[in-house]
Amino acid sequence: MSKIIDIIDKDSHANLNQYNKNVLDTPSIVFIENKVKSNLSRIINLKTGSNPRILFALKPLTFLGFLRFVPRYLDGFAASSLFEATLARELIGDGGIVNFTTPGLRPSEVDQIFGLCDYVSFNSLNQVAWYLNPTIQKIKYGLRVNPGISFVKDQRYNPSREASKLGVPLAQLVSALSNGAHTQLEHISGLHFHNNCDSTDLSQLLKTVKQIELHISDFLSKLEWINLGGGYIFQEAASLDPLYEAVDLLQKKYALEVFIEPGAAIVRDAGYIVSSVLDIFESDGKTIAVLDTTVNHMPEVFEYQYEPDVIGHVEGGKYKYILAGCSCLAGDVFGEYTFNEPLEVGSRVVFSGMGAYTLVKANMFNGINLPTIYSLREDGELVLEKQFTYEDFASRCGVETHDLA
Ligand SMILES: *Cc1c(COP(=O)(O)O)cnc(C)c1O
Repeated sequence: MSKIIDIIDKDSHANLNQYNKNVLDTPSIVFIENKVKSNLSRIINLKTGSNPRILFALKPLTFLGFLRFVPRYLDGFAASSLFEATLARELIGDGGIVNFTTPGLRPSEVDQIFGLCDYVSFNSLNQVAWYLNPTIQKIKYGLRVNPGISFVKDQRYNPSREASKLGVPLAQLVSALSNGAHTQLEHISGLHFHNNCDSTDLSQLLKTVKQIELHISDFLSKLEWINLGGGYIFQEAASLDPLYEAVDLLQKKYALEVFIEPGAAIVRDAGYIVSSVLDIFESDGKTIAVLDTTVNHMPEVFEYQYEPDVIGHVEGGKYKYILAGCSCLAGDVFGEYTFNEPLEVGSRVVFSGMGAYTLVKANMFNGINLPTIYSLREDGELVLEKQFTYEDFASRCGVETHDLA
């Protein structure tokens, strides 16, 4: 049990030596504050040479405890729903920027969203026609375009997939601009695109910018700002030159204020899910290790059928297990893993790379509790941020609090 913190310590290069090693509840999600901070510092270093404004896209992680210090580093947040926008404003106060875009803008929420945000990018020409209100001058209105070039093979993650719902197709914008039917477009001062996922190749970003320039350079000249989206693990890119070239082009030739809005790049490698082995038995010649976590805690493992990284897994290790989640869903399985040491009931199994798109998607399917949330603060102190209870489950089951006695 005590090894667990040493393992995370080693993997994350955090300095946790002072921490009392025996109090970690499982299943839990542990965030290493130093990691988030070093990711933030590395991302702001992107400003050297060019000067994009940097927002944190809330979609991969909304837990307040880990986001407290984001406003100290970045210019603001990118939100895609009323709740995300509300949270962003709560975090940043009046001192930062909230950018907004969603395909799901609804009439009942527009006023509140406009009240909270500084930049709103419409996802379709319909949204422009229905919701753009030039009398609200505090908002900078933009248009999300679909640049129509794809870099993501898995269509479920590809914002520029065929028949995409995300953004106005470039060709449609070109014809709208030329036929003059959309008079509201004169109130648009910016452009937004987001067409990648987990890429470390920034030449794809430059290619996208050039594609946009090729089709609508006159429109670009009339604008004030552009948001290049997220989808890049900026700090792992082999070269940042294409980013600088893209930002330079947009700033110098078009005098645009440039935004980027990374999400996963800032938080993914800062999070670990720690679980315990509940049971070990044989089935059809394989050894199953049932864990106290489940794919409910990292639903993308199930949605996209990928095997998450487990610390201590070695190719060709002597001890082989199917690591399985604890729900009654047959496919609640993480995969087959091999280790140099055998697992026992009570052994800890640690998943790395769990900081993005886990907690925000985690659910209580099958009545299994959410992971307890910890953060490892900069000074090495382990802080229990939140422990979920039966009341959290019950409230979504329609149980009134006073019935719980
Ligand atoms: C999801 C999303 C992001 C963040 O993407 P990451 O892959 O987490 O960097 C940024 N902008 C928009 C519009 C998004 O939908």
